[in-house]
This record gives sequence, C-alpha cells and structure tokens, in this order.
Amino acid sequence: MTGHALPLTGGCQCGAIRYAIHGQPINPLICHCRMCQKAFGAIFVAFFTAREADLEWTRGRPALYRSSEAAERGFCSRCGTPLTFHAIGSEEIDFALGSLDRPAELKPQKQYFVDTRMPWFDELPHLPVAGSTASAEEIARRKPYQHPDHDTAEWPGAGQAS
Ligand SMILES: [Zn+2]
Ligand SMILES: [Zn+2]
Repeated sequence: MTGHALPLTGGCQCGAIRYAIHGQPINPLICHCRMCQKAFGAIFVAFFTAREADLEWTRGRPALYRSSEAAERGFCSRCGTPLTFHAIGSEEIDFALGSLDRPAELKPQKQYFVDTRMPWFDELPHLPVAGSTASAEEIARRKPYQHPDHDTAEWPGAGQAS
C-alpha cells in the first residue's frame, strides 16, 4: 500500500480521542469474528493496521478492555466508540477503519473468520434503498454533537453540549 496522504487522522464520535498515523497503513481488512461483532455491536468490522511507532494520540487516549489473554481493545470512555485492537506484545495496532476522517480512501483487501459471517452478508448491497442521502443542511439542522471529520483546536465548540 502506498500513496495515502499522511497523516491519516481520525477519532471517536465525540472527539475526546483523536489520532494521527504518520506512516502508510497496512492490511486494511474486514473481520467477521464473534468477538469483533460483540465489541462493536456490529455484524462485521473493518480495520487497518498501523505501526505503534507511527501513531500519535493528538487528543485523549482510549480506555482499554482486555477482551482475551491475547488482546486488548481501546474505546472512548466518554462516547463509547470502539477504536482499536491490540495483540499483547505486538508493535502494531489495528484501528477501526470507520473512525478515520476519510474512511472511503482505504478499501479492505481481505476478510477474516468467514465461518461467523452473517449468512445474508452477500445480499446486503441488493437491499431496497429506503432513504435518500441527507443533505449537509439537513444534518446541520439536527445540531449534531458529533466531532467533524477534521482536527479541531477546541472541542466541544462554544455553545455546544459537553
Ligand atoms: Zn468519544
Ligand atoms: Zn475480529
């Protein structure tokens, strides 16, 4: 993998935790294992891998849950966003791909643990489309507390619920 604009930045939904990755990402993948399904409350999870040497926490730090003897998972203790998977002793750390500010730029290249993949996974792209894309104006009208998809000097902003 080459050519991704660096650093790759991202963070949790509330913005209490922000990160920057200063090296090229490795091995973007999706995982169907039961532990990822539970940890994210999701039917599958996309990750990319970063070297710890390339990682900078630019705001906050994740809380850690030791999900097995072999690994710990990081999440935001304020908003609950799952962010990382780290095999104990490894010098690499996996990040939830959806936590990136520009997740569409990093396409998963492999899938793991397909024995616990949802039996209807292949049918999902063919579901009827029930809603149109919300416009930026519509989203703004809802006054989201979600951190924007870029770094901010201060967050929450003035007048925003903390
Ligand atoms: Zn958060
Ligand atoms: Zn998994």
